Amino acid sequence: MARYIFITGGVVSSLGKGLASAALGALLQARGFSVRLRKLDPYLNVDPGTMSPFEHGEVFVTDDGAETDLDLGHYERFTGVPARMSDSVSSGRIYSDVLEKERRGDYLGKTIQVVPHVTNEIKEFLLVGEDEADFMLCEIGGTVGDIEGLPFFEAIRQFTHDKPRGQCIFMHLTLLPYLAASGELKTKPTQHSVKELQSIGIAPDILVCRSEHPIPDKEREKIALFCNVRKEAVIAAYDLKSIYEAPLAYHHEGLDQAVLDAFSISPAPKPDLTVWKDVVDRIHHTDGEVNIAIVGKYVQLEDAYKSIKEALTHGGMANRVRVNVEWVDAEVFDSEDPAPHLEGFHAILVPGGFGERGTEGKIKAAEFARTRKIPYLGICLGMQMAVIEAARNLADLPDAGSEEFDHESGKKRFTPVVYHLKEWVQGNEKVKRKPGDDKGGTMRLGAYNATLTEGSKVAGIYGSTAIDERHRHRYEVDTKYRKALEDKGLKFSGMSPDGRLPEIVEWADHPWFIGVQFHPELKSKPFAPHPLFADFVRAAVENSRLV
Ligand code: GLN
Repeated sequence: MARYIFITGGVVSSLGKGLASAALGALLQARGFSVRLRKLDPYLNVDPGTMSPFEHGEVFVTDDGAETDLDLGHYERFTGVPARMSDSVSSGRIYSDVLEKERRGDYLGKTIQVVPHVTNEIKEFLLVGEDEADFMLCEIGGTVGDIEGLPFFEAIRQFTHDKPRGQCIFMHLTLLPYLAASGELKTKPTQHSVKELQSIGIAPDILVCRSEHPIPDKEREKIALFCNVRKEAVIAAYDLKSIYEAPLAYHHEGLDQAVLDAFSISPAPKPDLTVWKDVVDRIHHTDGEVNIAIVGKYVQLEDAYKSIKEALTHGGMANRVRVNVEWVDAEVFDSEDPAPHLEGFHAILVPGGFGERGTEGKIKAAEFARTRKIPYLGICLGMQMAVIEAARNLADLPDAGSEEFDHESGKKRFTPVVYHLKEWVQGNEKVKRKPGDDKGGTMRLGAYNATLTEGSKVAGIYGSTAIDERHRHRYEVDTKYRKALEDKGLKFSGMSPDGRLPEIVEWADHPWFIGVQFHPELKSKPFAPHPLFADFVRAAVENSRLV
């Protein structure tokens, strides 16, 4: 039976709860325990799938096809434990399940209330897979005091009483603001935030205090005294140069020890931090740097491409180089020469995206990379744009485009080289979609296998001809145009096992030009960089030596 650690936040949002949870997960693993991390989001969207990346950042897709919060990406990158559908839930999902049960008559005519019906639903979610890990780390989104968060706080409070004593602990993140005028760290907001927690029946066992300045002993004592925690359980969280320093930094501050103490696990198993020392060493001891352009649409909010940015960092670590990422707005050169915007980069990445806006710029970026022999990695929409570029410029299809854009504009303007897929096979099952289906979950989502051509560049990079990767898209490259494109040198080097869906394309006579229909960035880890990203950065390094 798992021990539960509930992670909450107070004072302000964006304190790094997700990172603290992920780093704690990694530290518990380093001490030999198995972990699973989970996110409970108070917002009313059923899942983040339909939320704008501008607002919510990237949607992280799991192997089993859930569209989840980007914090699950942190969890996976730090622990290597593949997240599942059952690791992410929102108020919207909980309420929609409760209401569905009510409509079905499951509650036998009872009055449906937040307590106990909604809270019970949340508690059931917490219990899924409790036998599979030593520790279950459950992060509650938002901050204590938010109206939407209340049922979650109430549920975790009840949950600790359903479990034997000592089976659950609470870890609360707060902020210690620094007042320059008096040269002091202020503890009052932390005290208030803990009071808020206590007023709903939760007494934190551990306080993680974000601070831009060292926390003096005297302040630590004060926090411990006023917030009713042990002094050793007041953990400092200072700003870090790289997020990957977090496990070592938290270990240094005693977080994992404090957690084991709170559970009375004694003697505590010694941690093996070799992996994290190597990760940090690779970040800080680099030999050279490369500049990579991410040509996208959601460039104002870097979180929109969180996993790509991280995967590029991992690729840099594999090659011991620093990767400087620059976000280039594709829309800017929709109808101009992209050269002034793209010259000087050692490699170009066109990420996934939805909608027509900015796609002409992305098509130009693909052409620029192809003709100038610059390493290019096209992910999902980035692959589709590379195929459209080839179709328009080399395969006599000047009107080549994606059905996605015709659907959006309601006009028939393009030859659909990329078409709307409505029927496909997942495992042994047939999946069908109609154009009018509701927006949530109508995509090809989650892990699918692909078969790579023997002797292709990608087979060499993966070191295998059988792979599985995560997908999130509605449209597919039409194999009807395969021959015409392959005759011009664009090889379809990865296909779905039934041969119907193109998974990877690559230019045969280019140093490094690969488009993938899936999202390799979702599976990259600092201690196991994804082979495509490792090799893409290697190609960028090689290119940087030529210029
Ligand atoms: N919009 C494209 C599709 O649905 C690409 C999606 C993506 O890049 N994730 O197929």
